[in-house]
Amino acid sequence: MKFNTSLIILLVMLMGCNSLSQKLTNSDRIAQQNKKYSSQESVTNAPKLVVGIVVDQMRYDYLTRFYSRYGNDGFKRLVRDGFNATNNHYNFVPTYTAPGHASIYTGTTPSNHGIIGNNWYDKFIDKTIYNADDETANPVGTTSDEGKMSPARMMSSTVTDELELFTQQRAKVIGISIKDRGAILPAGHAADAAYWFRGSEEGKFITSSFYMDQLPQWVADFNDSKPAENYLKNWETLYPLESYTASGPDLNEYEGSPRGKEIPTFPYDLKGLAPKNGGYNILKSTPYGNSIIADFAIKALKNEEMGQDDVPDFLAISFSSTDYVGHQYGVNSVEIEDTYLRLDLDIARLLNALDDQVGEGNYTVFLTADHGAVNVPAYLQSQRFNAGYFDERVFVKAMDSLAAGNYGVKGLIKNVSNDQVFFDQELLKENKIDAANLQEFLAMEMRNYPGINKAFTRDAMVSGQFTTGMAALVQNGFHHQRSGDVIFVLDPGVIVYPPTGSTHGSAQSYDTHVPLLFYGYGINKGETAERTEITDIAPTISSLLHISFPNSATGNPITKVLK
Ligand code: ZN
Ligand code: ZN
Ligand code: ZN
Repeated sequence: MKFNTSLIILLVMLMGCNSLSQKLTNSDRIAQQNKKYSSQESVTNAPKLVVGIVVDQMRYDYLTRFYSRYGNDGFKRLVRDGFNATNNHYNFVPTYTAPGHASIYTGTTPSNHGIIGNNWYDKFIDKTIYNADDETANPVGTTSDEGKMSPARMMSSTVTDELELFTQQRAKVIGISIKDRGAILPAGHAADAAYWFRGSEEGKFITSSFYMDQLPQWVADFNDSKPAENYLKNWETLYPLESYTASGPDLNEYEGSPRGKEIPTFPYDLKGLAPKNGGYNILKSTPYGNSIIADFAIKALKNEEMGQDDVPDFLAISFSSTDYVGHQYGVNSVEIEDTYLRLDLDIARLLNALDDQVGEGNYTVFLTADHGAVNVPAYLQSQRFNAGYFDERVFVKAMDSLAAGNYGVKGLIKNVSNDQVFFDQELLKENKIDAANLQEFLAMEMRNYPGINKAFTRDAMVSGQFTTGMAALVQNGFHHQRSGDVIFVLDPGVIVYPPTGSTHGSAQSYDTHVPLLFYGYGINKGETAERTEITDIAPTISSLLHISFPNSATGNPITKVLK
């Protein structure tokens, strides 16, 4: 719960011109009102706290591949004592961090919430923009532009927003992540705070003026304690290296090395490597990025008195280091296995803190991921799979010259991003080229281009309704205003990426299939292999809290999960 000062300030401002006697009367009324608010039972039969955990780039099989090596108090506790939805998928493309987090919390897809990528080409201003950047927000806790962030571009409300509305802003909602977007999008528009990690030479948590004008004392104290410094140490495997049999050899040709290290093998001397790898930024691509998030989240629980009264609070945590490690070393690396074994310990530590602070049985946890990841295509090729690399620059050149050959105009393609082609609409108008005709022409050419599996036109996306298959995923990710003119889908196992490390973004099952666990207050013990979708999470949590669904939610509560 929090004291609603903003309401009071607003009312005081509104009656600023009244006489003193009236002021007294009005403040009496406000006092009465607040008294009423704090005694009114806002939500019946609800958890005191909901903790949303997103593990960045967690494939479904990380739960099962490493299961025998997890301890009893982390992932296993959630699986054993909670509900495990084993066939949970993203129902749109592209499967990137910002659209993923936005969809978990809005219960809908980019077609509605408008977060169509991490970055996207904004055709109205002819510029590529970042999902969370906000020129009107000022950095707080830093002078870096990394603080100029807000959720302003997310068009839908989140489950966290709806909790704030429902409780007259008395719920406390806080988002925490290494990545700004991992904290900001889950916390929503009405959040009390979102904090993210600033690496470089600072190594601390920051926010923006969207939330507050200065950091709370406990955050300033945490930052003053130099929380990142202790983690600049040797990264060794948690257990003897030879016990890592759920992954490939430590030294292989499918991993990238940090700058200044010749081969990607343990141990990693983080202090020594830091200067060449962005200072404290190096922690992001180690398990210690997750540990510092757990440290900070536990501090937030205590200092913000979360889950201490009858008004439910919401803590949205996103562990990002799993993603950085996956991008660097690939999904089959010892580095990824070790990162998950250590994350398991951090999750156990977090659950223990929740038991202490809120009490076992009084809080609800859900855990999922913002997307999966592909096995390194070069490795798949070595195992005789169909897989490979797509050279997007060569592709764009080829498409542009095919269009030029057919229409007699060069440069008709203005931008290619998130597997979407944007036309230069001015050029089309000047040359009286019919957009629908160009869409069809390029889609047809793409369907004959190596590495491309499917191509769809804007006109097909906005005129019909696809209900199944890849076309439905593309359409769910297609925003009528923000998206492009032709959309292509690459072959399974084919990515736009260097030959080392893993990535994501596609509509293939390695990117869409992610874990979904529920645990705690109001949650049944159980498991289902029936298909659930990422957009079902927010409606499920809304039902648990007895509050409105996010305003453009398209998912449904998973009824088996709820008591
Ligand atoms: Zn991600
Ligand atoms: Zn290695
Ligand atoms: Zn990623």
